[in-house]
Amino acid sequence: MNTPTYIGRFAPTPSGYLHFGSLVAALASYLDARAVGGRWLLRMEDLDPPREVAGAQDAILATLESYGLYWDGELTRQSQRHGEYAALVERLFSQGLAYACTCSRKQLEGCNGIYPGSCRNAGHARENAAIRVRVPQLHYRFTDRVQGEYGQHLGRDVGDFVIQRRDGFYAYQLAVVLDDAWQGVTDVVRGADLLDSTPRQLYLQELLGLPQPRYLHVPLIIQPDGHKLGKSYRSPPLPADQATPLLIRALNALGQALPDQARYGEPAELLRWAAQHWDAARIPRTLTLAETALR
Ligand code: GLU
Ligand code: ZN
Repeated sequence: MNTPTYIGRFAPTPSGYLHFGSLVAALASYLDARAVGGRWLLRMEDLDPPREVAGAQDAILATLESYGLYWDGELTRQSQRHGEYAALVERLFSQGLAYACTCSRKQLEGCNGIYPGSCRNAGHARENAAIRVRVPQLHYRFTDRVQGEYGQHLGRDVGDFVIQRRDGFYAYQLAVVLDDAWQGVTDVVRGADLLDSTPRQLYLQELLGLPQPRYLHVPLIIQPDGHKLGKSYRSPPLPADQATPLLIRALNALGQALPDQARYGEPAELLRWAAQHWDAARIPRTLTLAETALR
């Protein structure tokens, strides 16, 4: 039997530079693909120009290259896909599967991020409104390759969610589902901060009749103060001249075997070795910053 085709991807948002946590996610996604001879795509999730940091796109590409994380095919950009997103929103709206919401942020205060459905039956016009997709009163669950069983009751825990913002920009949830299917992605490997987005994505896949990829959410790195290592820290770009030591540190964070020091070599060589020895079953579910230090 032929090994099923594997298509993975890394999908950074240029709202900041890559930090150590994003390196861990990129590396896991890269190795999981390369270990089975799969393809690894790169997609720039530049959906939110107001939050984009100038120069971040170029810096992300330069970092991936200096760390030996070369992608297959052409880089794609979500900013080039507005036509597809618009057509889909239009279709869902005209079919009554999505509706216009005029609630202000203030009106939604105190809802704990769960949309109460205020505009569900209001029949608002699309102009100057956000578009929300109706969710069913159902549980959406899946088995993550690292985090195990995960699910949410969409009606109760999430509510109807935004697919197009009031300012006209498209929502991550919509674009990611459409693009993963468009690119034939079979395996999503990303940070655990997106675990609680996954049930919404499963619902959109079902609604649109798209295939469901496998999921692997790598642990977030918890700082000593309890904060997650994230873009909000405005971390500086990963240093280009530290590629090998930081790749080793990321491999260690992923619970992977490490080569002999003498064989560390150039990033490309190290990545080849790591792909041959990749074992996703060794990835820990949680991680503190201290645990990412080399023992
Ligand atoms: N663009 C998202 C981020 O940088 C990741 C999306 C994904 O991997 O599904 O956080
Ligand atoms: Zn509303």
